[in-house]
Amino acid sequence: MIGSLLHQRVNRSLLGLAALAAALGSTVLASVSGVLVLNATVNEAQRHVRTLERDLTGVITSFQPLYEVQRQLQLAASSRELRSALLLNSSGRVIAASNSALVGRNVRHLGDDDGMGDLPRHLQDCVIEPGSGPCADPRGSSLFDGPLPWIGGDHLIRFVRTPMALEGLPAFGQQGLLVIEVDLQPLVLRAVRLTLLVFAAGLLPLFLTAGAMVLVVRRQLLPELLALAQTDGLSGVMNRRAFLEAAEQRLQLSAERQRPCVVALIDIDHFKTINDVYGHAAGDAVIRSMADVLNGAVRRTDLVGRLGGDEFALLVEVPRSQAYDLLERLRQHVATHDWMLSDDGQPHLSLSMGMVESGGETGYALDDLLQAADAALYVAKDQGRNRVIDLQREQPAGWVVHTA
Ligand code: GH3
Ligand code: MG
Repeated sequence: MIGSLLHQRVNRSLLGLAALAAALGSTVLASVSGVLVLNATVNEAQRHVRTLERDLTGVITSFQPLYEVQRQLQLAASSRELRSALLLNSSGRVIAASNSALVGRNVRHLGDDDGMGDLPRHLQDCVIEPGSGPCADPRGSSLFDGPLPWIGGDHLIRFVRTPMALEGLPAFGQQGLLVIEVDLQPLVLRAVRLTLLVFAAGLLPLFLTAGAMVLVVRRQLLPELLALAQTDGLSGVMNRRAFLEAAEQRLQLSAERQRPCVVALIDIDHFKTINDVYGHAAGDAVIRSMADVLNGAVRRTDLVGRLGGDEFALLVEVPRSQAYDLLERLRQHVATHDWMLSDDGQPHLSLSMGMVESGGETGYALDDLLQAADAALYVAKDQGRNRVIDLQREQPAGWVVHTA
């Protein structure tokens, strides 16, 4: 159960991590490509404005009639991106405009009602203070304006001072101000669409890659981690938590099949003395050896765990008499074996064991069985150690055992 719960939690976390990695990776990809595309978009808009500027200043300086300039501005405005194009004289009067309604008006009198956004304000700055503001540079200047902060604005305004050589214009060679305003929104929308497309397109391959990495982690690392989490580091048998969990499951199964199980608690006698006499490392070696002996004595399907210190637990799926014989053989083996420690120590080892069979009074509840086995172990210690006690088989005089 620990295993499956842990599996579920790890799976959930890893999947969440894969999704997060994919979303983050895709966001970074989309952001980088978005910035690149926006950059290219702005450059394209600036090139577009420069081309318009070249064409229109060409017309303004080629001694053509004013209506031809007007026609060219209107023609330019038929391209979708151009918002407006104006030609002002030095006193601020519009002498040609893509919007013919503006012709003849002075920019000082243009306002919000003319539907030109902030443009009149910028133009007034140019007319009132020609040496400062957006028109300060005689070679022309560009201004991003509007509510798209990540590129500076949603439209680009170009101000260029140009000499005017137009047929019929009273003061030949007078300085004029050509204003071209380009709408960036369609270009920005195109860039945003592309960015979203890159995000969506990056999501799937990145999720699959992250998913593949998750699979590798799950297949290769998770089983090792699980085994580590369930194993007692010193003895190599199940640790307390893993044993209790596995025993719980096994008892449930045995209850369903109405099969008896025996739970035994096994404790090394006078283990503290071994530590005291031969050292802690020798004590560790004894714990490892006992775990090996227990593992060797039971079937692979039986459970062996170290509950802590010098105490082990067994769960064997055999009737009581067989379990008793098994534990008795084990006890005799440990008590008669010549135990050799690495520094020539030859300790005498013995085990005390308390056992209990499931079913009957104790039922199949693990807690009850452990309590009863503990009571039996206590009797074994009390009766002089080195013995197996099955309280259901022999009720020692003077002992009243309460199980369940
Ligand atoms: P009893 O016959 O009553 O069981 O006596 P005991 O000396 O075995 O009992 P006790 O439970 O008092 O001693 C267990 C000792 O095991 C105490 C502790 O220092 C020692 N111990 C616990 N864990 C470890 C371990 O991982 N390694 C070693 N070397 N000793 C341990
Ligand atoms: Mg002990």
